[in-house]
Order: sequence, then structure tokens, then C-alpha cells
Amino acid sequence: MAHVVVLGAGLGGTIMAYELRDVLSREDRVSVINKGSVYSFVPSNPWVAVGWRERETVEVDLAPACKRRDIALYPQGAKRLHPAENRVELTDGTSVDYDYLVIATGPELAFDEIEGFGPEAYTQSVCHIDHALAAKEAFDKLVAKPGPVVIGAVQGASCFGPAYEFAFILEKALRDAKVRDKVPMTFVTSEPYIGHLGLDGVGDTKGLLESAMRAKHIKWITNAKVQKFEDGKVIADELNEDGSVKTTHEVPSAYTMMLPAFRGVEAVRDIEGLTNPRGFILVDRHQQNQKFQNVFSVGVCVAIPPMGKTPVPVGVPKTGFMIESMVTATATNIARLVRGETPNAEGTWNAVCLADFGDGGIAFVAQPQIPPRNVNWSSQGKWVHAAKIGFEKYFLHKIKSGRAEPFYEKLALQVLGIDKLKAVKFDSE
Ligand code: FAD
Repeated sequence: MAHVVVLGAGLGGTIMAYELRDVLSREDRVSVINKGSVYSFVPSNPWVAVGWRERETVEVDLAPACKRRDIALYPQGAKRLHPAENRVELTDGTSVDYDYLVIATGPELAFDEIEGFGPEAYTQSVCHIDHALAAKEAFDKLVAKPGPVVIGAVQGASCFGPAYEFAFILEKALRDAKVRDKVPMTFVTSEPYIGHLGLDGVGDTKGLLESAMRAKHIKWITNAKVQKFEDGKVIADELNEDGSVKTTHEVPSAYTMMLPAFRGVEAVRDIEGLTNPRGFILVDRHQQNQKFQNVFSVGVCVAIPPMGKTPVPVGVPKTGFMIESMVTATATNIARLVRGETPNAEGTWNAVCLADFGDGGIAFVAQPQIPPRNVNWSSQGKWVHAAKIGFEKYFLHKIKSGRAEPFYEKLALQVLGIDKLKAVKFDSE
């Protein structure tokens, strides 16, 4: 009998626990440790920030589904992982021992790396539901007293899709409020070009996004390294190819929302052999840590090297489908270890993303993530907005029901030709 513990119950951790329940035997135990017992669907936060969603509609109480699936839930949160002792210390002083651990703690938001950054200072955020609700209050003030807006992503950021999404969603919400004509908008990004997305572009994301921004009168600054945020102002250097400063911009802003850089959460940071210098978890192609071989990791907390050198550092995004592929590989590999076999499943890590613009959007598929690719496709249209709503409803239903992947999802993925696992090699091969 094995005890498998999942640390973190966000997008990756919840479905990790459900998939483990599917592949392990009834005698094996599955536990989840999370900060709280509520699941929050992060991709809906840009909608929450303009009042298109309420908190209740994007959150799920995990307790009933966990009970139904025989998953123990520890809502205290982890204080510290002790991998040499196979133990997670919780914030209330108790501990949970494990045979296998999956770390799915998502990102810590590194606002403290830039002066004046974050919801405690001068900028808004959509990375957490509480931030998005505060951003909605700031949006209401902006509508009442319109002024310039800055949206974007700072140096070291890896999550660019939501920055573009939010720029277009805010643009639509301001048009709906009939104040768009009083709000000059600037997109400030560390990417070397619009549509790079940390992936060196996918299909024609450069052309599509530049054209959409021109059509919506959103100006942009690329290769931007923010010096600091002040009340009513963003001060950013625009860098040349060689890293020297081309221009320093002082962009007036009555409302600023920029995606921060991410790092690993404190409970798992600075553990020799487990984490890289930014606290991301080191895993091999089987999602397994090599020093602590009973520890696996999925989601945003996994260490992935950047795509290549850029004047301002940018990271590689970890999107929902890529995370699901990590989850399926991890579940397969842990089940194999429990049966005395060796891990052999590899996630595809394909980037599949729907970027909603409020009344349209852009979708892209990068297979594999690093170019040259077999599939390098992007497209735009009103269907993307509808598809994103479908994704939200479907994912929340999946979390509520406690089922990781019903057969019709498998069927849809097969029809689209998208696999979560690379062809598995057998031990004898
Ligand atoms: P999270 O969902 O952040 O979950 C981490 C969990 O770990 C949380 O529940 C947290 O409470 C818990 N945790 C942290 N520390 C501890 C601790 N010490 N003890 C216990 N628990 C802990 N991807 C897409 O594919 N499509 C999208 O549309 C999309 N939109 C996005 C929009 C935004 C604003 C952002 C920020 C990201 C978006 N992403 C999107 C990217 C990605 O899919 C999400 O970030 C996703 O939530 C990441 O899942 P995760 O499980 O790695 O982390």
C-alpha cells in the first residue's frame, strides 16, 4: 500500500489527485495538501477584474469531490518540505508522511523585485482571485475618472497570454462603459517583439497580435525593463539588442496591470538538488526529480529553461494543456513505481492556448513547444471567445465532479490530433 501526497490543489494539483485515484488501487492512499479547501480557476481572473464574473462562479469547494473520490484533504497548507525525511510539515505544526510526493504549488509572484510593483503598491494584478477583485474596484474608479492605462509583463515574466488577454478584455470593457475614447492604452512588455509569448512566437502570433493592437489603438513598447512604478507613472527602459538602454520611457498611467516574474513558493525553495536558484522544481522527462526519486512535479512550479537569449529575460509559459500532459505522465509513472516498474511516460508539453479578447480572440498550438515544430498554428476569430467560455465551464465541472478526463475529452483530443503522452517505451525496448 502506498501513500501519494499532492502538494497544491490548483489547476495541476486537483486533476493530479483525481488521475492518481484512477490509476492506483483502492488500498493506496491519496492526499492533497493545499492552502485552503477551495479551488479557484485562475484563467477566469481577467474576467473577474472587469466584473464579467463573480468569485462564486469560478470557485469550487474541493471537500465534497475529495470525499467522494476518497482523497484526504489537508487545507492547512505546507510550511516546509523535508524530502530527505519523506515528510511535509504543515503550518499548524503537524506533518504528513508520504511514499511519493507530487509538487504542484504553482508560482510565487515576485512583485518585490521591482520598486512600487504589485497590489500592495501601485499596480493591479489578475494572478490571484483576490487581486482580480481588487482590480475590479480600480476598474470602476477608472470608468468614473478615465485616464491612461498600462498593461503588460515585466522582465523575467513567463506568462504573456494573460497580459494580452487582459489588454483586449479591458479595452472591450472600457468601450462597453463608453469611456474608451478617454483612455490611451500602452502595452509594455519584456518580449523582444509583440506575439513572442516566451515561445519565439507561434504561427503568426506576431502579425495577428500587432494587427489586433493597431485595430484597437493600443500602442506598445517591447524589450522593456521596468525600473520602477510610481503613483500615476511607469518608468521603463527600452533595451537594444546588446542590452544597452535605447530609451527610458515615463509612461503616465492611472491604471497599471503587469504580469510579474514567477518563482517557486517558500515551502519548497532552496532545497539542494530539488530546486533551481529561482525555486522551481528540477524534473527529468518523466516529471521525476533525480535526487529525490519519489518526488515528482507538475505545473507552473516545474523548472523549464528559457527558449533562447533575449535582450530582456523572458521565461517559457506553462499553459493548462501542457500541465495536464505533465499530470497524465506523472500519474502513469507513479502507478508504475508502486507496481515495482520503472517510470516511462513522458508528457508532450505541447503549448495549446486560447487567448480571449472579450468578443474574439487568438488561439495557438505549438507542438513541440521549442521550434522547429511539427505543429505551429495560430488563428483568430469570435469562436475563441466562445471556446474559452466552454473551457471554463468544462474545467470547473471536471473539478466539481472529481473526474480527471471523461472519455469524450479523450475523444475530442484524439480528433484534434493532440496527445498528452509521448509514445510510451516499454521496459524490454
Ligand atoms: P495554481 O493553479 O496556481 O495552483 C497552485 C496551488 O498550490 C494553489 O492552490 C495554492 O494555494 C497551492 N499552494 C501554494 N503554496 C502552497 C503551500 N505552501 N502549501 C499548500 N498549497 C500551496 N493557462 C491556460 O492554458 N489557459 C489560460 O487561459 C490561462 N490563463 C491564465 C491566466 C492567468 C491570470 C494566469 C496567471 C495564468 C493563466 N494560465 C492559463 C496559466 C496556467 O494554466 C495557470 O497559471 C494555472 O493555474 C497553473 O496551474 P498550477 O497548478 O501550476 O498552479
